[in-house]
Amino acid sequence: TGWEDATAEDAGAAADDGEGTYVPTVGVVGRPNVGKSTLVNRIIGRREAVVQDIPGVTRDVVNYDGLWRGRRFTVVDSGGWEPDAQGLQKAVAAQAERAMSATDVVVLVVDASVGATSTDEAIARVLRRSKKPVILVANKVDDERAEADMAELWSLGLGEPIGVSALHGRGSGDLLDIVLDKLPTAPVEQFGAVSGPRRVALVGKPNVGKSSLLNKLSKDTIAVVDSVAGTTVDPVDSLVDLDGEIWRFVDTAGLRKRVKTARGMEFYASLRTQAALEAAEVAIVLIDSSEPLTEQDQRVISMVADSGRALVVALNKADLVDADRRAESDAELERELNRVPWAERINISAQTGRGVHRLAPALRRALESWDKRIPTGQLNTWLKELIQATPPPVRGGRQPRVLFATQASNRPPTFVLFTTGFLEAGYRRFIERRLREDFGFAGSPVRINVRVRE
Ligand code: GDP
Ligand code: GDP
Repeated sequence: TGWEDATAEDAGAAADDGEGTYVPTVGVVGRPNVGKSTLVNRIIGRREAVVQDIPGVTRDVVNYDGLWRGRRFTVVDSGGWEPDAQGLQKAVAAQAERAMSATDVVVLVVDASVGATSTDEAIARVLRRSKKPVILVANKVDDERAEADMAELWSLGLGEPIGVSALHGRGSGDLLDIVLDKLPTAPVEQFGAVSGPRRVALVGKPNVGKSSLLNKLSKDTIAVVDSVAGTTVDPVDSLVDLDGEIWRFVDTAGLRKRVKTARGMEFYASLRTQAALEAAEVAIVLIDSSEPLTEQDQRVISMVADSGRALVVALNKADLVDADRRAESDAELERELNRVPWAERINISAQTGRGVHRLAPALRRALESWDKRIPTGQLNTWLKELIQATPPPVRGGRQPRVLFATQASNRPPTFVLFTTGFLEAGYRRFIERRLREDFGFAGSPVRINVRVRE
């Protein structure tokens, strides 16, 4: 059917497609041979760990992407070190210190079949000082009988030992639930102050009416802005009151001063566009609808599409376009804007003010889509149905199956599909189209990444 039921645990790891979302870290410590590597493999799903060395840190510290119940985290495996002249106890204590300072949650692994050794006690002593949560894992509890061995591990003073068998998977789901529970609430906000005004980039090729629009919008704004408590404005930004809400139009200094130099203007303009997009959450692309769309307009649109920002397309100078021309140019625009079919279009006139009041609601809708998160359970129920009705096309005699999906991040919404084979671009677009139809992502790009599990 193209769908295979699988748990998040089965589907494994490595959903690091989000940009800038805070991903908490879990450090795994313990003396050699207690099963740290086995446990890490179990946690990350063993298959395609994204392995990356952290530069400047001990060579053998390795980061892995973990995913559990739709929550991403990084597992820091500090294992594999060799005890040097300092001796084993000092080496593990140092390892524990590092984990305490560098990670959000520390997992101490102990071999329950051996019991607490003096080295385990030395590590526990270090960890008891930790201000971060510490989880004591009693590993190699392969069966019920072995659970009896766990009791004595209370003596380590780190609370209740969690019995697992890293080798066979016993108890690992419960352990991950506990880890998840202790992970700090990630600061979802990646743009600084959560409560600050939302950031808008007003972009478009020269002479489309950007300064005119900004002037129109900021007419009554200055006084309002002065009275907004706690709004510190970067001098290159403008605070603008639209529809009773303050918005931060980023990087507008150039617009205000109407800097226009003939030479290299386009190059300069594209740099400015890039910088504004960088700082913004949503873009208004301004187009002069009294003229045919040009390559330069297309370039601006492409920049926005690539930036992953939300988007509203404003067709300016509507006052110059009569109804007949409008219908004609709309059809043409439809073709020209094929890179961003999801973006809302609004006809405005920066000069007369016509249609300008429709900007704020469109910006809000676009940002709502951009911020949206679909819970993993809901997503998978939906996807299962979709794929059963329309399975992915067979390639090379094999039908790829989708095992599991999760929304790895928002801003923009980014989905990861774990599959057993390559999904063609056409099929990915089909999924995107249906996602948009059923969940509504108007105004926002949606990214779909596929992780093939071998
Ligand atoms: P590390 O040195 O702490 O990373 O330990 P490893 O992960 O390399 O494991 C050391 C040995 O213990 C290996 O032979 C593993 O197969 C074994 N091992 C790990 N976890 C378990 C477990 O849950 N049960 C049993 N019986 N053996 C395990
Ligand atoms: P910018 O280079 O994108 O900042 O564009 P400007 O705001 O400087 O506008 C370029 C020219 O278009 C100016 O002469 C404006 O008066 C004119 N303009 C801007 N918006 C409109 C509009 O809605 N209608 C008409 N008729 N002219 C406009």
